[in-house]
Amino acid sequence: MILLPERDKELLREMEADISKELMQKNFDELMEYPPLHSGSPEEEKAIQVLKRKLEDYGLEPKILRFEAYITDPKMAKLTVTAPQLIEIQTTPYRQAGSTTPEGFETEVIYIPPEMIGYQECRGKIVLCEQRTSGDWMGLQGKLLLKLQEMGVAGLIVIEQDDFMPTVCHQRADFSVSGNPTPENFHLIPTIPAILHVSNRDGAKLRKMAQSGGMKAHIISFAETRWKRLPLLVTEIRGKKEPEKFILVNGHVDTPPYCLGSTDNISGDTAILEVARILNKHRDKLRRSVRIAFWTGHEIGKYAGSTWYNDAFWHDLRYNCVASYNIDSPGVDGATTVREAPYSEVLEAVLESVKDATGIVVEHYRWPTRAGDGSFWGTGLPHVSVTTSRPKETYDPHVNYSGGGWWWHTPYETYDKMDINILKTDVKIELNLVWRLANCPVIPFNYTQYAERMINILEEMQAKSEKINGYYNLYHLIDEAKEFRVLSGKLEAAAKSVAEESDQKKITKINSCLLWVGRYVNPVSHSDADIANQVSMETFGAQPFPRISEIVDLAQMTLHQSAEFKFLHTKLVRERNMVEDGFYQANELIKATLETL
Ligand SMILES: [Zn+2]
Repeated sequence: MILLPERDKELLREMEADISKELMQKNFDELMEYPPLHSGSPEEEKAIQVLKRKLEDYGLEPKILRFEAYITDPKMAKLTVTAPQLIEIQTTPYRQAGSTTPEGFETEVIYIPPEMIGYQECRGKIVLCEQRTSGDWMGLQGKLLLKLQEMGVAGLIVIEQDDFMPTVCHQRADFSVSGNPTPENFHLIPTIPAILHVSNRDGAKLRKMAQSGGMKAHIISFAETRWKRLPLLVTEIRGKKEPEKFILVNGHVDTPPYCLGSTDNISGDTAILEVARILNKHRDKLRRSVRIAFWTGHEIGKYAGSTWYNDAFWHDLRYNCVASYNIDSPGVDGATTVREAPYSEVLEAVLESVKDATGIVVEHYRWPTRAGDGSFWGTGLPHVSVTTSRPKETYDPHVNYSGGGWWWHTPYETYDKMDINILKTDVKIELNLVWRLANCPVIPFNYTQYAERMINILEEMQAKSEKINGYYNLYHLIDEAKEFRVLSGKLEAAAKSVAEESDQKKITKINSCLLWVGRYVNPVSHSDADIANQVSMETFGAQPFPRISEIVDLAQMTLHQSAEFKFLHTKLVRERNMVEDGFYQANELIKATLETL
């Protein structure tokens, strides 16, 4: 159910007609003068100043906030195979790792297949390994990197999994900590002195070489890790009826090393400027506020900007922010479709906006990842991101953003990879969705499909763990989630009738309920941390219900009387209580709200 008043629909058409390709091209061209934009660099500062000036030109009052971020900036990397013969291999460094000296070092190279990591001795050696190891896009996830670190590996050469474009190395990272570290998680930041990436094609040859034995390499991976002061740009267009409530429209400004970032995320910043310009013209008709934030510290800084913002403005976000709308990688060359939409309470609004703005019917839904600055899951905000993407034939399945363009996070992410016509389509979707979120009198949230997916996931987890159901199971939790599904249906029906009645008191009540249901279920379905903390980065937030996902590991243990079993069992009982409580609180709130309507 989304009831956007007729006058708002007309206004949307007016705003769409106002989208200016000429102006966007000019802004894009100007921003493209500065990358690569390493966080903390003068180039990044210049880009922020350009954005600030443009927002001022549009009549807004932007502010630059400054904060400290713990950043690892890779400076240079070099890989030379020295035995059985001398070969130089092109390589790119990771963004979160330790550092070698500028001279580097030489030692033996061994290949460890994915299933043998943790079992094969590798102290003091360079390990050649597969990026695909845990099936995730970003890198060696699932604690494997930390395992190798613990085992005293001297360096890693990671074989890029991209066989769609086997001659490129994407700039990747495996940061295990989200945002600035704390005393509790500082040790999780990778400190292996060198982590180098080689292309899929080169990797295949190196693998053969290492498997024949006697391979040696000299590697240099020079990185600088220190606290840096970063700028963060924010502005707000105040709503008229509920000014304290706001939609957080956000995107990152910085780019990875060796990358011009045309489609990740200079195109996104250009889009946000255009959304801000047009919305501000219609601010007198805006119901809720729209806050706009340009993050830094996204690429080399473990999402430092958005996590800092979450820390610094936590109370305001927790109690007033309707949704975080992350704009990353729009306007990509060849991006003629919208492949999928993320599960959340905003799913229906996303589908509606895409259809209304483009005519495209999105058919696939996915569990969202934390990747694009989803730093607000502990806080409980829905994390919305939707952009056009390339169709199946041209979609590189090994990249995360840039609409599936194979050039993502490589030196090939150049000026020509942005298509201004497609950027216009994306801005149409963005305006449409922001306007719905800001102006529908009843917040356009619908939990029914999200609830359905949550139940499926919990049932799949349980099915994989039946072996230990006598010790641990999710039966009661699944019942609680099923009740949530039923109540979500009732809430949706109630929201619809309240919207039709347009009784302001009832609207306020139902909106508070719609907002707070998410505050209860989002942190337990997406985060494994408490509400003021950040989700761990092991799976980039791609793992649903991360608090209890280790039920599968528990079920695979050989001995249920072992200490390991009991330790993990204890943890999982506590975490299951947290997840159950999330559903319980949401269910109680819906019941109480329905009674008063
Ligand atoms: Zn990005």
